[in-house]
Amino acid sequence: MNYSEYGKTGANVSSVGFGGMQFNTKLANEKNAELLRYAFDKGINYFDTAPGYCEDKSEDIFGIALKQMAADREKFYVSTKGMPVDFDTANKAIGAVDKSLKRLNIDCIDFYHVWCIRDMKHYELAMKKGGQYDGLLKCKEQGKIKHIVTSTHLRGEDICRIVEDNKVEAILMGVNVLNFLYRWQGVEATYNAGMGVVAMNPLSGGLIPRHEDKFAFLAAAGETPTEAALRFCISAPQINITLVGFTTTEHIDMACKVAENARPFTADDIERIRKNVSKNMDAVCTGCGYCMVEMCTKNIPVAGYMQVYNEKFLDEKSADQMADVMNHHFNWGILVDRKGAAADCIECEKCEKACTQHLNIISRLKELADWEKLLEEKNRQKEQA
Ligand code: SF4
Ligand code: SF4
Repeated sequence: MNYSEYGKTGANVSSVGFGGMQFNTKLANEKNAELLRYAFDKGINYFDTAPGYCEDKSEDIFGIALKQMAADREKFYVSTKGMPVDFDTANKAIGAVDKSLKRLNIDCIDFYHVWCIRDMKHYELAMKKGGQYDGLLKCKEQGKIKHIVTSTHLRGEDICRIVEDNKVEAILMGVNVLNFLYRWQGVEATYNAGMGVVAMNPLSGGLIPRHEDKFAFLAAAGETPTEAALRFCISAPQINITLVGFTTTEHIDMACKVAENARPFTADDIERIRKNVSKNMDAVCTGCGYCMVEMCTKNIPVAGYMQVYNEKFLDEKSADQMADVMNHHFNWGILVDRKGAAADCIECEKCEKACTQHLNIISRLKELADWEKLLEEKNRQKEQA
């Protein structure tokens, strides 16, 4: 395992971070907690969670493991988060920190994230007088947290504004081998300012492992596209920690193996990827679900529809084939419980503003609505035949 100085925080962090967002929630919390100890024994010393992750079980799972790991408390770092939209006053922010401390079974959170800045308005809300940031400063004075950091899905130029504001010590951002062209400006700005950089979503929401054949161009000899995608973030000198969501010990082993052989991508590698990552590839829906945090007033399951749309360009499907794909998803797949249809969209833009990938959701919904119509027509013809 490799370690680096995490910005100016004084922490020496492992290049692989334990992401607590992929536990198998069908297992007992105690069983999932064993993964943290396993990862720690493998050299991972950064453990990241948040309220709400894994049906809100993640912080409790961490709490079980961290209690067992108490004797080694000085040897690892714990990170959790709170959203300014939920905790918009200092008192609410302090309450959230207290709740997390209790669930995590620790006295002090090493890195507390002003969580999920999708819009500069969220950042401004956190930083307003008497807001979340002021509450977190109070927690810092009281020794409840050590460092205030942030996590964001903003575009590079907006990340630069947060860097310039210089109120947080590190930035967690969704960057991976598929979207780096569009996110790298933020990584560079953060790194160049001497702040810590954490990458989340290195496998693009599981898209790369699910479509390894399509992403073969990522891999060098002897590695899989999934390993290559992990290596891209883990080996980048600008990125201190790559958060990987672990479900099994095998996942931990794979990430640690990649970290052991983390040869950085060369300029030629980058050029090859640049050529292969089409505009569309940069704009895949990662299934992160942030567009659903505030439900669409028309009850359109936007994240589900956008993941169905992924199949159009990943599998180069025709309109006719997409009608069949939708039939599958309406009956057995991701859209089975839908309460609103793509055609119901009133173009309010709420979901587009929330989208971490800045997808053109409205125009995609129009195409999806066309395929839906085509499906109805196909079904009608079948009935008549
Ligand atoms: S733009 Fe359409 S899908 Fe998105 S939130 Fe508004 S109505 Fe819903
Ligand atoms: S549409 Fe955007 S916000 Fe919604 S799940 Fe996909 S990438 Fe995430």
